[in-house]
Amino acid sequence: MIDFQQVINSIHNDLKQEIDRGLVANYIPELSHIDANNFGIHLKLLSGESFSVGQAQAPFSIQSISKVFALSKAFQLQGNDLWQRMDVEPSGDPFNQLSLLELENGIPRNPFINSGAIVIADILVSGLENPKEDFLHFVRALANDQTIQYNEAVAASEKATGYNNYAAANLLKSFGNLQNDVADVLDFYFYQCALEMTCEQLTNAFYLFANHGVCLQNKEWLTASQIKRINAIMLTCGFYDEAGEFAFEVGLPGKSGVGGGIVALLPNQLVISTWSPGLNPKGNSKIGMQALEAFTTKTKLSIF
Ligand code: GLU
Repeated sequence: MIDFQQVINSIHNDLKQEIDRGLVANYIPELSHIDANNFGIHLKLLSGESFSVGQAQAPFSIQSISKVFALSKAFQLQGNDLWQRMDVEPSGDPFNQLSLLELENGIPRNPFINSGAIVIADILVSGLENPKEDFLHFVRALANDQTIQYNEAVAASEKATGYNNYAAANLLKSFGNLQNDVADVLDFYFYQCALEMTCEQLTNAFYLFANHGVCLQNKEWLTASQIKRINAIMLTCGFYDEAGEFAFEVGLPGKSGVGGGIVALLPNQLVISTWSPGLNPKGNSKIGMQALEAFTTKTKLSIF
């Protein structure tokens, strides 16, 4: 029997000493103030137990991790029609790369690069009655936590500086792959990325991805087949142009965000989240990746 508390304590202890913690994202000005020394880990086993260490209960900006929730809601609304508007291939390029989108006639490579997530946002703006409110309720329901909120200052900061995302949305619109106005879709997208959650809330919200679509409250939100597909996209596309490296080092499907969060899961067994805001050059949490590599190596728990 693995002593999980001891495992995450020792990982936390080893890595909190690390001097080089990566660089906090500053292209969204509001994120640049976050202290790089924050470091939390939360683990939830499907058998019911939970384990925490460090700043696992501190809210942070989940950024691109929200793309998994948005994809889930869009998949639930549209089923496989979704895949007419985007592909499921890793891009091998940074999350905000535009040249591929132009070359491939406005069909994003996958739902986790920004252009793909903007198409998903378009689907949600069309399909939800009150998009921002309904999406927040969806995430709260998955996590079984009514306290989850958008951070208005982060959303405003990205709205004021997100030129690359305006470019992507305009390109999508020019190719006919955006039904709503660019401004409306990006307003939703910036709020979605500005969701704040703790490591513990994230592990709870991701429970259904380890449990064939059935959330903590025993409600089935997505089919087992849809969950299989979302997990496959997390494994192949969840870490920008470092998805291969994450699969190689950690061996779990997961998703990262430029706020420094990572969530990963082992189907039928566990969900684990880390938060350490300093990023490596590819945009993934430097210490978070090391922590998860240590976790799967020490416990021998990975999909491989
Ligand atoms: N809101 C961020 C952007 O669109 C998300 C980036 C990320 O976490 O990958 O640039």
